[in-house]
Amino acid sequence: MKDQFGRAIDYMRVSVTDRCNLRCVYCMPEEGVPAVPHQHILTFDEIARLCCIGVELGITKIKLTGGEPLVRRGLPDLLGLLKSIPGIEQVTLTTNGILLKEQINELVYKGMDSVNISIDTLNPERYREVTRGGRVEMALEGLDAAAAFPELRVKVNCVPLKDAEEEEYIQLASLAREGKADVRFIEMMPIGMGKVFSGKSGDEICTVLEKHFGEPKRYTEPLGNGPAVYVQFPGFRKRVGFISAVSHQFCDGCNRVRLTSEGYLKPCLQYGSGTDLRVLLRSGTSDEEIREEMRRIMYEKPACHQFAAENMAEQSVNDKTGEKSTGGMALESKGMSRIGG
Ligand code: SAM
Ligand code: SF4
Repeated sequence: MKDQFGRAIDYMRVSVTDRCNLRCVYCMPEEGVPAVPHQHILTFDEIARLCCIGVELGITKIKLTGGEPLVRRGLPDLLGLLKSIPGIEQVTLTTNGILLKEQINELVYKGMDSVNISIDTLNPERYREVTRGGRVEMALEGLDAAAAFPELRVKVNCVPLKDAEEEEYIQLASLAREGKADVRFIEMMPIGMGKVFSGKSGDEICTVLEKHFGEPKRYTEPLGNGPAVYVQFPGFRKRVGFISAVSHQFCDGCNRVRLTSEGYLKPCLQYGSGTDLRVLLRSGTSDEEIREEMRRIMYEKPACHQFAAENMAEQSVNDKTGEKSTGGMALESKGMSRIGG
């Protein structure tokens, strides 16, 4: 379906848990987030029901995310269940890769179309710092296990932190040169803990890579469902991409909505607006009524994020509730791991 601004919405990011086996500094507090009671998390059948209804509204692609989706028991079964829904063309996964090696066979067997693996640095010491204790060897074993399936599209995602060394990006980009994966650099967004960390812009990274690898060619073939801009450096077997939501806003072409693990449907990352579908699912509401509620939220998707306003504190704060807003709209107070980044 199209939203109020004529954008076709065909992609739903589905968070299956708010828990994680890492504690990336810009995503989660050291002590983790307060655990959501098990019974508040949508069951696989509830997720599948919402995806079926989503298909009637034009959703054809699902991304499973979290928290860390692979810590949810039976995740490959959910993936298989969603793949079996007529009208769902792609089910993909975003993971930190730590548990990927042990689950990859089953995920591929159940029909996973592609996997994004988040690895911010290949330097073991830095990785341990950024993830607060993670072992990069485990993420790399996950990457190797995924790369062993030639038909599976594999991407590595990096959120570059301001204090990272140039060598770290060069090493990451080299994964694309070797042909292991497309490598994408994602700008830090002022969501959750991301408000107190600064990252590097896509342009800054590209300049460093160009100095090292030579002038890249713009890669214009369609790749994936998102807003990444891809280039190919000389001699590279795979691409390097840039997702620059802050420095180059791309809301005009935004095609997605988000479903949190607690069943809250969100039309935009930055705002708190949305609707609680879990309440509807658990109160005997019909598919038609749920569909109309989803349609309303999707239709009312905001025009664009206001990350710049967030950064410049162009916000008002409600004296009574403490709620922050910009342009009259309440801002999201939850972090990325709870929204389903
Ligand atoms: N745990 C999985 C992972 O790390 O891929 C899935 C969930 S994680 C929230 C999804 C992605 O969001 C990761 O690539 C992570 O680096 C990114 N992320 C988290 N906080 C962010 C922020 N403030 N700005 C930009 N990306 C962020
Ligand atoms: Fe966990 Fe992913 Fe957040 Fe890192 S970015 S803490 S791996 S949810």
